[in-house]
Amino acid sequence: MRVYLDWNATAPLLPEARDAMMAAFDAGGNPSSVHREGRAARALVENARADVARLVDADPRDVIFTSGGTEAAALALRPAITDPPRDRLVISAIEHPAVAVGHGFAEAVSLPVGTDGIVDVAALPGALAGAARPLVSVMLANNETGILQPVAAIAAEARAAGAVTHTDAVQAVGKIPVSLAALGVDLLSFSAHKIGGPQGIGALVLRRGFALASTVQRAGGQEQGRRGGTEGVAAICGFAAAARVARERLAHDISHVARLRDRLEAGLRALDNAVQVIGDTVPRLPNTSFLRIGRKAETAVIALDLAGFAVSSGSACSSGKVGVSAVLKAMGAAAPEEGALRVSLGPATRDEDIEAFLAAFAAMRGNAGQTNTAPRLAPVENGSLASAGA
Ligand code: PLP
Repeated sequence: MRVYLDWNATAPLLPEARDAMMAAFDAGGNPSSVHREGRAARALVENARADVARLVDADPRDVIFTSGGTEAAALALRPAITDPPRDRLVISAIEHPAVAVGHGFAEAVSLPVGTDGIVDVAALPGALAGAARPLVSVMLANNETGILQPVAAIAAEARAAGAVTHTDAVQAVGKIPVSLAALGVDLLSFSAHKIGGPQGIGALVLRRGFALASTVQRAGGQEQGRRGGTEGVAAICGFAAAARVARERLAHDISHVARLRDRLEAGLRALDNAVQVIGDTVPRLPNTSFLRIGRKAETAVIALDLAGFAVSSGSACSSGKVGVSAVLKAMGAAAPEEGALRVSLGPATRDEDIEAFLAAFAAMRGNAGQTNTAPRLAPVENGSLASAGA
């Protein structure tokens, strides 16, 4: 038996996405061809673009398909995105590597986060001072803690100071309602594989009227000259199917995962009062528990994997390596080298999965020579979205 509780790393492929991909593979055709097969492929891509746009409350003309969240961020975060170019990159201290790599800016400034895991908006004026054309990028939800960031406030202040604004919404889209217009950003990135679509496809979405002054791949002129190369039609269709499902089921999924997440956290606290839930007093994603467990999280991840549970200790890095959590460090947490256990749920997670996880956690503590108490579940009625912040 395997229980998958690492949805923030990647979500299982939805059957609707698989079906849409298989149909597109079978249809064939290049969307740039003028014949019937080409026109059919073009129709699939453009219908998909509308579905993807709708999920983030944007205009289909402003959706650029990319190979994922990383490429979308790389397309957004370039000095030459405007002409004249941007002269300073301002990000937060807790960005995903897709944003944190710096992107060749001569000047890069990082906004600190408080001990509560929230980006310090008060540091923004200082970070913008002296830059003529800054580019500001702050993530909407952190991938490790799930804590929501004040993107709308940051975007409003940054735009007033002449900045172009981007948000990495990879972890937020499909888990909470996301509106490009309501956030007030110029650019927003997200990724299909976090919402039940395939890996290797994502989108950069632009505010209506925002024009890229340059691109990375012009080549064949696809995506209105903004990202050349034959479109990955099947992947795009899988992305769109996942976007449709996410949109239709969002309200239900939010209360479902929040209820299970609250049940999980209540159960863990009842088992072990050393367990500390990061972000439980601030707005956060409804599906994510980031847990200090009083011992090295990495060891727990391995023990739980052997017991049949897929969880993580922070973000999934390439080659499976686990470093010290940059997020815990940025929050000024004690003993950041111990890490934290990230348990992330999804719409298919069931009550039985949470109960099995609690039993495995109790057994793991027993094996580690600690007091073993049978799991006692505090009944949690309707998972409160007050703590989910959505
Ligand atoms: N940004 C965040 C916050 C993420 O969690 C991830 C994926 O882990 C990415 C960006 C990268 O997205 P992709 O895997 O589609 O390149």
